[in-house]
Amino acid sequence: MTDLSQIGGWFSEACFPLIVAGPCSAESESQVMEAARALAETGQVHVFRSGVWKPRSRPGTFSGAGTRALRWLERVRSETGLLVAVEVASPVHIEACLKDKSVDLIWIGARTVSNPFSVEEIATALQGINIPVLIKNPLSPDIDLWTGAVERIAAAGVTQIAAVHRGFSPFERTAYRNMPKWEIPIELRRRFPGLPVICDPSHITGDSSLVPEVAQKALDLNMNGLMIEVHPEPSSALSDPGQQLSLRQFTEMMRKLIVRKPTVDDPWFLNQLEELRHQIDSIDYQIVDLIASRMNVSEKMGEYKCRNNVTVLQMERWLEILRTRIGHGKKIGLEPSFVEMLMKLLHQESIRKQTEIMNNLKSNGECKSS
Ligand code: PEP
Ligand code: MN
Repeated sequence: MTDLSQIGGWFSEACFPLIVAGPCSAESESQVMEAARALAETGQVHVFRSGVWKPRSRPGTFSGAGTRALRWLERVRSETGLLVAVEVASPVHIEACLKDKSVDLIWIGARTVSNPFSVEEIATALQGINIPVLIKNPLSPDIDLWTGAVERIAAAGVTQIAAVHRGFSPFERTAYRNMPKWEIPIELRRRFPGLPVICDPSHITGDSSLVPEVAQKALDLNMNGLMIEVHPEPSSALSDPGQQLSLRQFTEMMRKLIVRKPTVDDPWFLNQLEELRHQIDSIDYQIVDLIASRMNVSEKMGEYKCRNNVTVLQMERWLEILRTRIGHGKKIGLEPSFVEMLMKLLHQESIRKQTEIMNNLKSNGECKSS
């Protein structure tokens, strides 16, 4: 992995959590100015966002006001003092943004991040220009695609990078417009420890009434900030009307959000935490040891099935295991879906091991694990 430990350096403690807010699209100068003035007045917004070129799934829908809207954003900056950010999807967009230094930050949208050719073109256009770049996750939950976009932009010399978690396209209808799959931004943070990651609850939920709960969850997971869509009159918005907060809803959400600290210096707190961590460590080792014992038994069963020419998968037995373990878990307060996931994971690994034993019979004539 490339050493990108420096890329998060720009992100200042002074703006934690970083709040990026504004309409999905810049629709008119008056809409942009109304939103920007009200957001600046809250005193809680650092960056004003607004799409100027909109990637729409279907043709014939509003695709942004284009380059002329950059003038409106310049006005936002000079009249409110907010930093301004727009989405770019091509070198042409970057050139337009840089020409009159109209914007302070740019972001690369989910559709663009999904295509390494586009990211490469954008990276080439950014060579030698150190503007902060926010990189949204790709549409699919492909951590390498997201990682690759961060690496490509960093390789162009951009050091001011942050990632934006906006959820992943589901195949079927779910409660949210996009599946959060929180484990993916967590893995991205593991891969790039210095990289700030902010959350976009508007695109995750697709529903203004659900935005506050996802925003709180993101802060509780220690994300570095939020990108929120806010519109002076959401129901008449030309894009994403269902998910944009009104200015009143935004103020209300910001008032209720609880910002927790990642840690505190208090020695009493740290002692207690250390004690609990010892307990967790000890239990985790026991769990790993128990899994190893289970796998040993499972290997013996594999050898036995192999010698007796019996199939690896025994459906009835598997259904019984699932049913009884979920039932037992329920009695002691474990979530059935969690126990189900855990048992499926163990079962998959048993099947992999036992299949290996069956294959060994073919290759060296012995029912033995390798
Ligand atoms: C947006 O921010 O308005 C947008 C189009 O987002 P995404 O790329 O996450 O769909
Ligand atoms: Mn949008």
